[in-house]
Amino acid sequence: MYKLSSKPLISKAELSERVNSLAAEIAAAGEFDILLGILTGSFVFVADLVRAMPKANEKGMRVKFFKASSYGDSTESGTLTVSGMENLDLTGKRVLLVDDILDTGNTLYRLVPMLKERGAAVVKTCVLLDKPSRREAPIEADFVGFKIENKFVVGYGLDYADDYRTLPEIMTMEEV
Ligand code: 5GP
Ligand code: MG
Repeated sequence: MYKLSSKPLISKAELSERVNSLAAEIAAAGEFDILLGILTGSFVFVADLVRAMPKANEKGMRVKFFKASSYGDSTESGTLTVSGMENLDLTGKRVLLVDDILDTGNTLYRLVPMLKERGAAVVKTCVLLDKPSRREAPIEADFVGFKIENKFVVGYGLDYADDYRTLPEIMTMEEV
């Protein structure tokens, strides 16, 4: 059994400040044709990030999502299921792949080559959170919001069995 922590791990103010500075770091690294968000956990982060990124032109950057899930109703990693990538034309595109959290690394490690197979010229990765102590696959994200300890986190789009996504702060789940 898990229960929600009483205090946030990352507050609203900290999230907002870091998302703004991360958007500036990404912009300084060059332009991207398309931002690809991984559903469902990245939806809040992507919404805040794109509004903090300076527009390269009046059209801005394209934003698309596809679904990748490696978690069922538990906090243990399982098999990766991908859907919604079928109709993505990435030929010659500079892609920014955005996820909520980099944990074992198995998800991004498998997704990056899939995007290159679909013709992407460049694939850079961006995650809000990184748990380096849990890494299994040899991958680091190009842009990282916060490095955190090995705790299961929810809120700001992240779930526990599909709950808690709408909490405005990053909270931890504690075993009871
Ligand atoms: P990885 O493949 O790097 O192990 O896992 C990436 C995915 O696992 C993330 O996109 C996220 O959906 C899920 N995940 C990993 N750690 C956490 C966590 O602490 N909280 C939540 N809610 N999801 C997590
Ligand atoms: Mg995910």
